[in-house]
Amino acid sequence: MKKLFGMVLLACLAANAQEPKSLPQADERYKADVLVVVAHPDDEGAATPYMARALDEHRRIAVVFGTRGSSGSNEAGAEQGAALGAVREVEARNALTTMGITNVWFLSGKDTATQNVLQSLANWDHGETLEQLVRLVRLTRPEVILTFLPGTFIGEDHGDHQASGVLATEAFDLAGDPSAFPEQVSGPMKRLEPLLENLRPWQVKKIYYFPDADREDIFRGKGPSYSVKEISKLSNRPYWRMALDSFRAHQTQAKGYLDRIAQMDEAQIEKLATSEDGWGEDQRFVLGKSAVGGSVTADIFEGITPGAIPFARPEVAPEPSRPDLSVELDGPWSFYAEFRRAHGLPNLPHPEPPEIALQAHGIMVIPLWIRNRTPKAQEITLSATLPAGWTVDSGAGKFTVGARQTAAARIEVNLPPLAQDAAKKPEVQEVIVRAEANGRALGDVKLRVELRKRALPQ
Ligand SMILES: [Zn+2]
Repeated sequence: MKKLFGMVLLACLAANAQEPKSLPQADERYKADVLVVVAHPDDEGAATPYMARALDEHRRIAVVFGTRGSSGSNEAGAEQGAALGAVREVEARNALTTMGITNVWFLSGKDTATQNVLQSLANWDHGETLEQLVRLVRLTRPEVILTFLPGTFIGEDHGDHQASGVLATEAFDLAGDPSAFPEQVSGPMKRLEPLLENLRPWQVKKIYYFPDADREDIFRGKGPSYSVKEISKLSNRPYWRMALDSFRAHQTQAKGYLDRIAQMDEAQIEKLATSEDGWGEDQRFVLGKSAVGGSVTADIFEGITPGAIPFARPEVAPEPSRPDLSVELDGPWSFYAEFRRAHGLPNLPHPEPPEIALQAHGIMVIPLWIRNRTPKAQEITLSATLPAGWTVDSGAGKFTVGARQTAAARIEVNLPPLAQDAAKKPEVQEVIVRAEANGRALGDVKLRVELRKRALPQ
């Protein structure tokens, strides 16, 4: 009996001595060093000169677009709407293929012509597109994310650009959290698992932003800056030139411009592109945050070493103290104040007072929160101090706000047409909203407004 037991034991040991089966590993073909997150086809142009440099440094790059860019005009053909989006998806893939970048994905967001990030997020199905982006971060395991700066500024100020920066920041904070979208990071329960994704949580090490604003002063010194005029070791062309060549794929957005360039010789292209069209300008980034330390203006990859790092839960700043009765700007402005607090971005540049560029001869909406933390209903009087020729359309006057309630109010202002002799660079004007209760001022809300011939809707 003892002998038989010994033979069984030997058989078990023999089985254990067999070669171990290897378990499936993450697919290395999709590992990225840099993940670029933008909103529309051609937005990648905001970072292609840096991408050209990163390729020289043997970085692997992946790009995510929030939308297919189905709004707007078509300079190359008759297609519009979703058909135009289908064309632009191919244009964006072709643009990146010229640089050798093929790991390119599109979220299901919809192109939204607005400056209001909240409208873009709503039209993108915020939760759905965030889930998609977190999946792609876990799939590509980037060291660094580059994206639009989440903020609202005088500039193009596209709500979709801002939305891509909002989503990328949220994904930076969530992708490393095993409790966020846990179905993505669960092992399979079946042989051909159709639901659980078997990804791993991934903490991105740094996130950098590029701004969509006219002014540059508030971004200086907030991150690294790169010359685009150096010559690529890979292509033997300047980085700006690689970016311009890549941009040539965007026929539906810029056929007229690209046809003009196609007629030019090298010297003319260089003169136009580097002196007038901004292709020659240094590429500047703003450091959002780093989970691996390093200095603000150092190279993007400073302090980054290969391999996973632990989940870095964002440091939420405390809620600001407010008086019992207060008034403040609602809409994107109050959202971004909360966003910076929630995502540990206290140093993210933003204009103070807040600002916006609007189309002249229209309506400006000033959304407001009125907070009443007192145990009594309060009568609030709203008034606005406006530049000459601007008039309040609605929303001024007396209102009551219930005890311990926060109410949304809205002042609408008629904007005048631009004067015939309006300066080429329009002047920024200041609007002040005043709230009073019981003859006492609750504080002023200031907004700097630039009137333009054309601007995206508010
Ligand atoms: Zn865009």
